[in-house]
Amino acid sequence: MIVLIAVAAAVLVPYLTEPGIPVFMYHCVADEPRDGDENLYVRPAQLEEEFQFLSDNGYTTLFSDEYEDAYSTHKPVILTFDDGYEDNYIELFPLLKKYKIKATIFVVAANIGQKDYLKEYQIKEMVKSGLVSIQSHTQNHIDLSSVDVETVDREFRESCAALSKISGKNVTTLSYPGGYFNKDVIREAERYFTYCYAIDTNEYSKDNHYEISRGGVFRNTTLEGFTIAIETYSQSRFYRELLKFKHKYFTK
Ligand SMILES: [Zn+2]
Repeated sequence: MIVLIAVAAAVLVPYLTEPGIPVFMYHCVADEPRDGDENLYVRPAQLEEEFQFLSDNGYTTLFSDEYEDAYSTHKPVILTFDDGYEDNYIELFPLLKKYKIKATIFVVAANIGQKDYLKEYQIKEMVKSGLVSIQSHTQNHIDLSSVDVETVDREFRESCAALSKISGKNVTTLSYPGGYFNKDVIREAERYFTYCYAIDTNEYSKDNHYEISRGGVFRNTTLEGFTIAIETYSQSRFYRELLKFKHKYFTK
């Protein structure tokens, strides 16, 4: 009986009380969409409103490799930007400096130096500021759940080598391209990374390091929606489910 109660408590207490860590996923930052999905282009003014909110409300921004630290941080939030677009240097970086906010850019290594993607000198300058962490979004941005493990391994190995060579820092976290992964992908990822970020898995527990959920911030995300999202994600899983969080809460 005592064993049963102990087991039930171990399962239920984190479910009821352990906070979630708000983790947001962005892509491009630009007024004028270039190509692809227009909704991936967050306007600089919209981003600034969100940064102002974080700053005014005492949030602490952490890098993707500080996930566990977030559990002992007052009002933590992790901001991530996927793909490594050049507009992250042009539009995002000045705002990070203005508000002293930290962000992680998950870079597709093979795209570095290509049109509209980050250049090596830009990555170096951002890393040097201490406000940007450069992490892996694989070498070629392929769907990892649809290829063999050798390919997955190569995507991890090559991107880590290329990115750490430029940034001068170890690459220890990944965001899955398209959010796609499976058990085999996780097994390979465990050999390279301490944390892997996905999309909308609703998984924010301290122990699951390979399916960390991120909420997307898009062009149609309102400030009100952003603030509802950050407060919802900060709740325990029990309350998140009670609140029945849906994306529609924070889009226009
Ligand atoms: Zn991507």
